[in-house]
Amino acid sequence: MNIPTPYYDELLTSWLFRISRANYTRISVIVDKLFKLKRFYERDFDLYNFSKIELNTFYEITKLSNIEELQLRKYNGFLEENIDIKGRKRWISPISSTSYKNIFYSTRFCPKCLEENNYLKQEWRLMIVNICEKHLCFLQNHCPNCKKGLKYPNLYYEQKLSECHNCGFDLIKSEIVKIKSNSFHIKIQEKLLKILESGYYKINQRYYYSIGLFYLLRIIVKNVMKSRNIKIKYIETLEPRTLSFLLSYSIVLLQNFPSRINRFYKKNKFSNINRILDKYRYEKQNIPAWYLSNIQYNTISTRWYF
Ligand SMILES: [Zn+2]
Ligand SMILES: [Zn+2]
Repeated sequence: MNIPTPYYDELLTSWLFRISRANYTRISVIVDKLFKLKRFYERDFDLYNFSKIELNTFYEITKLSNIEELQLRKYNGFLEENIDIKGRKRWISPISSTSYKNIFYSTRFCPKCLEENNYLKQEWRLMIVNICEKHLCFLQNHCPNCKKGLKYPNLYYEQKLSECHNCGFDLIKSEIVKIKSNSFHIKIQEKLLKILESGYYKINQRYYYSIGLFYLLRIIVKNVMKSRNIKIKYIETLEPRTLSFLLSYSIVLLQNFPSRINRFYKKNKFSNINRILDKYRYEKQNIPAWYLSNIQYNTISTRWYF
């Protein structure tokens, strides 16, 4: 079997697709050979928890030593407590193999990166990453020609990885939206990535686990959407450019905590805890205590070091 070398930041599914192209064979056949697994398209391999037995042949053939380096499972416990492979994920975009394929866009991409090296990066499935810092442009989540999301991986090995599964448009030709290198959005993205990698953040001289912050961020992003009348039900369907704006806005609201966010809630008439937390109000244990006590009693006066 021809085995191209994986890039260090490549998604497992991207690499499996490149193996299938290198061998002129459907990806489901390759997956069956490597893992003895059927029904490839029903699984999200970037999050899949392989058993030891499933990995035996894979490690033998590929000479790889740790499959998790190519997966997103490493963010378990950092981004979310327990990333639900089949269900909704808080900050990981769903791929087309899930049952949500008709609602959500999947993997995002930078056209320029695709042009340089035809593979999909792991961070493109992290919804806190909405900008390509190398090419200084926003990521994209759909084909500009037919508006469909990427079907990933492509069903047919005859197709280039960067070709739209639906209309055949080569996504490397997508027009990009530039962003300045000193942009605030980039700074926020870098900060969030740093928090994700380390697993903690600091507020008022105290350290907290990153999970709570990412949980909270999704709530505030929804609050901001409501305040600006953005009537999109799922943040997974937002364009990366919009999501980047919403994330930066949310972080700004947390600065000078709690005065700025309280002003925001007052102005937009988020008058009680149920309105702020919306459907998250039954999952209070996930929300950082410093935030919760503020919206509950409005007593904390603290400074947000961000
Ligand atoms: Zn790029
Ligand atoms: Zn298309």
